[in-house]
Amino acid sequence: MNSVFSKLPNVGTTIFTVMSALANEHKAINLSQGFPDFDIDAHLVELVHKAMKNGYNQYAPMPGYMPLREEIAKKIYHTYNISVNPDTEITITSGGTEAIFDAIQAIVKPNDEVIIFDPAYDCYVPAIELAGGKAISIPLMPPDFAPDWEKVKSAITDKTIAIMINTPHNPTGAVLTEKDIQNLIQLVQDKNFYLISDEVYEHLIYDNQTHHSVLRYPELRERSFAIYSFGKTFHATGWKTGYCVAPPELTKEFRKIHQFVTFASPTPLQVAYAEYLKNSVHYIHIANFYQQKRDMFRNLIEKHTKFKLLPCLGSYFQLVSYENISDKPDTEFAIELTKNIGVAAIPVSVFYQNKQQDKLLRFCFAKREETLYKAVEKLSKL
Ligand code: GLN
Repeated sequence: MNSVFSKLPNVGTTIFTVMSALANEHKAINLSQGFPDFDIDAHLVELVHKAMKNGYNQYAPMPGYMPLREEIAKKIYHTYNISVNPDTEITITSGGTEAIFDAIQAIVKPNDEVIIFDPAYDCYVPAIELAGGKAISIPLMPPDFAPDWEKVKSAITDKTIAIMINTPHNPTGAVLTEKDIQNLIQLVQDKNFYLISDEVYEHLIYDNQTHHSVLRYPELRERSFAIYSFGKTFHATGWKTGYCVAPPELTKEFRKIHQFVTFASPTPLQVAYAEYLKNSVHYIHIANFYQQKRDMFRNLIEKHTKFKLLPCLGSYFQLVSYENISDKPDTEFAIELTKNIGVAAIPVSVFYQNKQQDKLLRFCFAKREETLYKAVEKLSKL
């Protein structure tokens, strides 16, 4: 047989898998892949047990368990004060990544262009390319990584099918402001393209800022796939459960893909989340909870290490510059840090299409206080 023709010749194993494996191999503290190292709420675990014992062990309906979609609609009303139809506008997915993939496959045709911001989460470009599309990158510059809307405007062509936004942003922790949203609204007016809005860190937003969901702006909502993740909000990344909110016509196309990617997401998890969501206490305090971790981690880094902190307004990621420590490219530096110092981080260049080198690392602070202390103690040796 001839050798395999790769549809993704430039793609290797994701950096999250690579760095977590390296961290395990060297018994390093893992601040690379974004996941909490503390337990999830025991009550949520009980609810899954209960659902399993009560026989919720067969396929869920393809678009998702209806009581869960209804609770999501209530949560959206409670959080953003807007009404969403659970029957025609909400689809439960196996995590945010599946939802992003489905949305892209639903709209992108061969030779279509999708505008993304660089650095971008690593699943965007491969999903666009698998659909035959082309990712057009607009660079975001450190330290604030704010979009230059003039650049976006000049990147729009008659092939543009969508713009992807992500707020709070992974990996930079930047957040879109009201002004950004107004710029975006101006840009999309009278245009025929879609928005894919990755809002999986909607509740991880700090310093009393507001999360500007596309759902709150009718001009944006009518053309958007808005994507969310229970993994981030309820600390259960391994349960891979999320959802997509989109207008009925877009949801119809989205479900055509979803039904053949995963058909339906695990039933007992959906049943448990439906019950758990009834109490808003379970999500309204998340911002405070993570803000404390962010502040603690930033203070420790500032006081005890040579790393330079960049702003962190949202998400559970903190970017740092190591320009005072080393001249090495970031991937090499991150590998050495894992092996020699015992702390794993993500090199930021992997999130750029042009592999831009700004000497930045991403640390995840969704960790116990003790873990953060131990990590900084090790980092202080540099
Ligand atoms: N979203 C997580 C991160 O940015 C990783 C998820 C994954 O490993 N697929 O670290």
